[in-house]
Amino acid sequence: MSVSLQNPNFEADVDGTTDLEPSVQIGARENLHDIEVLARLDINELNEKFPTATPEDILDLSITKLFSGQIAMVSSFGAESAVLLHMTAQIDPFIPVIFVDTGKLFEETLAYREQLTQQFGLQNVQTVTPRPQDLVEQDGDGTLWQRDVDQCCHIRKVLPFDRALKPFVAEISGRKRFQNELRADLGFFQQSGPRVKVNPLINWSAKDLAQYIKKHDLPRHPLVAKGYPSIGCAPCTSPVKPGEDPRAGRWRGEEKTECGIHFVDGKPQRIES
Ligand code: SF4
Repeated sequence: MSVSLQNPNFEADVDGTTDLEPSVQIGARENLHDIEVLARLDINELNEKFPTATPEDILDLSITKLFSGQIAMVSSFGAESAVLLHMTAQIDPFIPVIFVDTGKLFEETLAYREQLTQQFGLQNVQTVTPRPQDLVEQDGDGTLWQRDVDQCCHIRKVLPFDRALKPFVAEISGRKRFQNELRADLGFFQQSGPRVKVNPLINWSAKDLAQYIKKHDLPRHPLVAKGYPSIGCAPCTSPVKPGEDPRAGRWRGEEKTECGIHFVDGKPQRIES
């Protein structure tokens, strides 16, 4: 399957040449002809093109060329979100940033969203919320999370995400290989249902993230200093003790480890939060 490039702004090279370049460079040297070549590649071929690209390279390629006008970023404004938001704002501060407010978030997360939006100059942060009808019908007293965390996440997170992402052919995700069970061969680009998921930070370590935060003096989520290395909804997130898995504080005591299950290549994938 080739990359779903349906970009109305895309124009083929004026001379109409079709010969393939042996290697495609990222950045200023890239031209529309190269993009046309890239758009014909399937996901695996696309990943093989850029074995040593930086996150900024992948973001620039995806935002300004491959999926221009048809890509959104998904952000929880959580513990490490500042890195990708900062990189993205340097490339295009007008890119849609999808943020799901479940109605159960920490006040600190909402304040942090405002802080980063202002500081990075993000112009198109879109806050999406659960459908009122779903809440009335299924969570009238706001305690569904106590009875059925999966259904609570479904109506408060999964469905709003799905609705918000419908207009886009690609989404930027902050997933990092070191954090979870992602396949070792997962690359910068991944077919995820009807969309291409772009994973600029897939190869970064915790040390890489820390160095970037330090170098650019990025503000941290206020709950990080209080022992929350992974931050979701307030009722379902607790501090983590030294030596515990960073996500040990999410749905503590429950078997649940993910917000929702999406299956990609037959394997369960986490919805970022
Ligand atoms: S994390 Fe908890 S409160 Fe938030 S949507 Fe899921 S179950 Fe509900």
